[in-house]
Amino acid sequence: MKTFTYTSTPSRVVFGSGTVAEVGNEVHRLHRSRVLLLGGPRLTTVTTAISEALGPLIVARFDDATMHTPTEVTTRALALAEKHAVDCVVAVGGGSTTGLSKALAARAGYDQIIVPTTYAGSEVTPVLGETTDGVKTTRSGPEILPETVIYDVDLTVGLPTELTLTSAINAMAHAVEALYSPETNPVIDSMAQGAIAAITRALPIVMADPTNLDARADLLQSAWLAGQCLGADGMGLHHKLCHTLGGSFSLPHAPTHTVILPHAMAYNAAAAPEVMAKIADAMRVPDAAAGVYDLIAALGGPTSLAELGFTRENIDSATELAIAKPYPNPRPVTGEGITDLLTAAYEGRRPGGGAAVPAAGQPSRAPSSTTPPPR
Ligand code: NAD
Repeated sequence: MKTFTYTSTPSRVVFGSGTVAEVGNEVHRLHRSRVLLLGGPRLTTVTTAISEALGPLIVARFDDATMHTPTEVTTRALALAEKHAVDCVVAVGGGSTTGLSKALAARAGYDQIIVPTTYAGSEVTPVLGETTDGVKTTRSGPEILPETVIYDVDLTVGLPTELTLTSAINAMAHAVEALYSPETNPVIDSMAQGAIAAITRALPIVMADPTNLDARADLLQSAWLAGQCLGADGMGLHHKLCHTLGGSFSLPHAPTHTVILPHAMAYNAAAAPEVMAKIADAMRVPDAAAGVYDLIAALGGPTSLAELGFTRENIDSATELAIAKPYPNPRPVTGEGITDLLTAAYEGRRPGGGAAVPAAGQPSRAPSSTTPPPR
C-alpha cells in the first residue's frame, strides 16, 4: 500500500460537440464582460466560430501567440489588454495560445477560458513555460490554472494529421512521465494508463479518418486526463529535455516530444520496470519504449531529431543544458547517458534495435530517419 497526498486542480470543464456555443454563458458565469480573444496562426476557422459565439463581449483580439511563450510577445499582449481594460481572456488554439493566456493571468490576474484545439493538455495544468533570451523556464501556481475549459471536439476535426499525431504523443508523454514521478498516486496512475490505452487505440483511427468524431473525442479526453497527470506530478527527464530542445534550439514542441519519448522511456526502462510493464500492458505491446516508437513510425510521424533540423554538433551543448539543474528521474541523469540518448534520437534509432514493427492493422511505413543524414 502506498501512502500519498493528492491535491486535485479545480477547473470547470465543458466537453462535447458544439460546446463552443457555450462560451458567452461561461464568460457571464465568471461575472466578466470584457474579453480579450487570443488566437494564433492557422486558426482562422476556429477563431471565427468563437468570435461569433462571443459577439460584443470581445473588446480586443490578439493573434500572435507563439510557441514556447516568448516574454516579448506577452508584453505586447498585456499592453493591448490594459489599453482595452479587459477583465477576462478567452484563448482558442493549442498550447501556444494557452501559454500566452496563462502568462497574462500570471501577470494581471485575468480569469481564463481556454478552448483547446490540440492535445497539449496545458489547459488543465497550473504550469507556465516561458522563454526569455533563448532559455525556457517553468513555474507553477494556482493563479496560472485556467478557470474554465471548453472542449469542443468539432474544433479538432481540422487539426492536420501530422499535428494530430505529434500532439497526441505529447499527451502520451505527460501520462508516461506521471507514472514514474515520485509524486504519483493511484488516482493519477489510473488516469495515465487510461490515457495511454485510449491514445494507442484512437490515434490510428483518427489518422485514417480525421473526421471520426468518436475517436477524436477519445483523443481529446485523453489530452485532458494526461494534462491532469502533468499538472499533479512533476516533470522528469523527457519534459526537461524537450524544454531544452524547444527553448534553446527552437525545435517544434510536439514533434520534439514525439521523437524524444521512446528514447527517454528506454533511458529510464531498467530503473522503472513496473511502470514500463504498465505502459506495455496499456498499449498491448511487448516493450513500452519500442512500442511507442513503432506506433509513431507506423503512422508516419517523425522519429529522428535530424528530421526536425537538430544537428549532431548541437548534442554536446544540449547535454550541458539538460544536466545543468538536478530534477527527479528514475535513472540518474548523467552527461554520458544524455549524450547517448540524444545521439540515438538524432539518428532515429529504434529502442532495442531492429526495424519498426507495424501495429496490428497498420500499414508498414518505414521511418524516413533510419538512415541519418550525412554529417
Ligand atoms: P501550438 O499551440 O503551437 O499549435 C501548433 C500549430 O497548430 C499552430 O500553428 C496552431 O495555429 C495550429 N493549430 C492548432 N490547432 C489547430 C486546429 N484545430 N486546426 C488547424 N491548426 C491548428 O502547439 P501545441 O503543441 O499545442 O502547444 C505547444 C506549446 O504548448 C509549447 O509552448 C509548450 O511549451 C506548451 N505546453 C505547455 C504545457 C503546460 O502544461 N504548461 C503543456 C503542453 C504544452
